[in-house]
Amino acid sequence: MSSSADAPLSASDPHTTTRTAARTRFAPSPTGFQHIGGYRTALFSWLLARHTGGQFLLRIEDTDTARTVPGAVEAVIEGFKWLGLEIDEGPEVGGPVGPYFQTQRRDLYLAYAEQLIEGGHAYRCFCSPERLQRVREEQRSRGEPPRYDRHCRYLSPEDIAARLNEGQGYTVRLASPTAGKTVVNDALRGQIVFENASLDDAVLLKSNGFPTYHLANVIDDHLMRITHVLRAEEWIPSAPLHIITYQALGWEPPVVAHVPDVLASQGGKKLSKRFGALPLLEYRDRGYLPWAIVNYMALLGWSYDDKSNVLSREQLVAAFDLERVGVAPARYDEDRLLWFNGYYIRQLSPEELTEQALPFMQRAEAEGGLPDSVARPLDPAYTARVLHLEQERMKTLAEAPGMTSFFFVDELSYEPRMLIAKNMDAARTLDGLRRSHDALTALAGWEAAEMEARLRELVAELGLKPVQLFTSLRVAVTGRTVSPPLFETMETLGRPTSMRRIQQAIETLAAHAE
Ligand code: GLU
Repeated sequence: MSSSADAPLSASDPHTTTRTAARTRFAPSPTGFQHIGGYRTALFSWLLARHTGGQFLLRIEDTDTARTVPGAVEAVIEGFKWLGLEIDEGPEVGGPVGPYFQTQRRDLYLAYAEQLIEGGHAYRCFCSPERLQRVREEQRSRGEPPRYDRHCRYLSPEDIAARLNEGQGYTVRLASPTAGKTVVNDALRGQIVFENASLDDAVLLKSNGFPTYHLANVIDDHLMRITHVLRAEEWIPSAPLHIITYQALGWEPPVVAHVPDVLASQGGKKLSKRFGALPLLEYRDRGYLPWAIVNYMALLGWSYDDKSNVLSREQLVAAFDLERVGVAPARYDEDRLLWFNGYYIRQLSPEELTEQALPFMQRAEAEGGLPDSVARPLDPAYTARVLHLEQERMKTLAEAPGMTSFFFVDELSYEPRMLIAKNMDAARTLDGLRRSHDALTALAGWEAAEMEARLRELVAELGLKPVQLFTSLRVAVTGRTVSPPLFETMETLGRPTSMRRIQQAIETLAAHAE
């Protein structure tokens, strides 16, 4: 315990929120893998810290050891790294107010629990789980909300001493005030008033000596000198218990803001593992760019103005403040996220796009990469040209192999009838392809513009519409009806491959037409 911990930097007036250098934290429990909802809350904390020149901490609330999921801590840290959101203090980087795992801070919680008991703000509860269960059932049958009946709150000192002597196990409970009101000053929602008569004497320390969320969270936010607590709406009912605990310890509470929920794309349910949420790192594997995710998440509950959606890191940090965080739930919208991803893919330089897309293309076919028949490693210069042609249409990097495979495979496979455009027949198509082959053979060079000029002349000579001939050529050289611009595609594919494919189309169609 450092002595400076007793002088928190906090300002409890919500209106001073963005004027002080904010120390914020993200405090996940490693009981699962964080998704966009959790990271959105973390992002707001990170942005507030960056905007005010403060610090952002990561604290692992791992006291519910039975529910700890292996790999969850590593994944959350990896997620921040991938998103490019630096952690100033936390498990890997360390810092002056560590340790940053609550399981490593147990002595602190025990000491403060003792202090609370001594001050009369908390008490030992010896009730067995069976008794608690019975009390709850009785309350339920009377139609009352289930809560502790305060049986042990008024035990005599002798009784307590005797039970301790016997070695009876106990929990420590908060002695909540039973009358009056507790006011939570929420920076987004204003005053939230709780009737103390409705509060429970919540457990602060479990019988195994581990703290509950309420105790550990309050102690750590104070000792870690957190000035602004941003957390999910679901924690609002806990807030009065925290205020009471801060008061009991003689500490000033931090500014608290309960940020709006992120709902699943449909219905009224919160985004969650069961309702549409993917662990964040899945987005990386699915070819999303980290800043697309950050930019998208920033707008889940916060807005800059009605127009500005695309925001760089600098713009976002400069613009973010709590005043523009709303309280209405935000809705997860996959199409909007895809739009952002496509936008940021289009902003990549050819080198960046190649570097980012190559791993997706080179992975095994079964994992979504190019067909295994395509030799790896790919030629970066050729791949860069190919990707550049597809960049406009690409929404995720994971689409790159599927979109570009015809640039890499030896043999195309398509239905011969795809070669025949609308309002065309096999004979005229065959003639068009043969004449195209001859015209292209006669060309001196292999530039897109030159090919296009010559083939447009041919279209006129044949009395066709461009689409009637170019559809056939497109299918011949790409095996698809949708592709990047035809002549650039042929230029990139190169003369030998393009000519071979046109020749093959002629042969296939001739065989098919007979
Ligand atoms: N461990 C809590 C959680 O998992 C922290 C809530 C808070 O930020 O106070 O969400």
